[in-house]
Amino acid sequence: MHLKRIEMVGFKSFADKTSIDFDAGFTAIVGPNGSGKSNITEAIKWVLGEQSAKSLRGRKMDDVIFAGASNRKKAHYAQVSLIFDNTDRLLNMDVDEVAMTRRYTRSGESTYMINQKNCRLKDMTELMMDTGIGRDSFSIISQGQVEAIFTQKAEDRRGIFEEAAGVMKYKNRKKEAEKKLDHTQDNLHRINDILVEVE
Ligand code: ATP
Repeated sequence: MHLKRIEMVGFKSFADKTSIDFDAGFTAIVGPNGSGKSNITEAIKWVLGEQSAKSLRGRKMDDVIFAGASNRKKAHYAQVSLIFDNTDRLLNMDVDEVAMTRRYTRSGESTYMINQKNCRLKDMTELMMDTGIGRDSFSIISQGQVEAIFTQKAEDRRGIFEEAAGVMKYKNRKKEAEKKLDHTQDNLHRINDILVEVE
């Protein structure tokens, strides 16, 4: 599985529809300062579910939408799609190509899509989990993050290896199952209380 293409429209400095093909042998994006290189990595993180505007160098989520220029009106929405080659079926879908899309409008409406079908953010993160391409995975290393890895607490650093080893998905499911168990336990206690009162 690999990222084949990214398509952006209205995202940060990419006002017009822009498509970048990551063909075999593609190793680097070069360009003058401020030309939008970091905006591309941020677009990837954004689709993968980044919720913190600060991590995307903004103050609020609106800041990802093209803000306008002297000769151009601001955009009403930002939309980015990541197109993955899935011929090896690493993503658990029986299709050769998976397109993940996020769209955000100035009115605050957020849409996530997998192969043009609306889905929840959770569906996207679950699909990506343990592939090494998740939002918090080691596939995107921002400036300053290398030092952070060295100064991290041991258990935080372990997370990187857990994602690589493919156990993160199961840890998350365990957490969810434990939450459900707690909830069920609470319900049982409540029913017992009612039973005692009735008797
Ligand atoms: P450097 O080499 O200096 O790190 P870069 O090529 O990584 O630069 P970016 O930081 O990706 O460049 O792009 C910054 C540019 O994006 C700035 O010119 C900034 O004005 C523009 N930009 C960021 N957000 C928006 C927005 N919402 N609307 C329009 N332009 C934006």
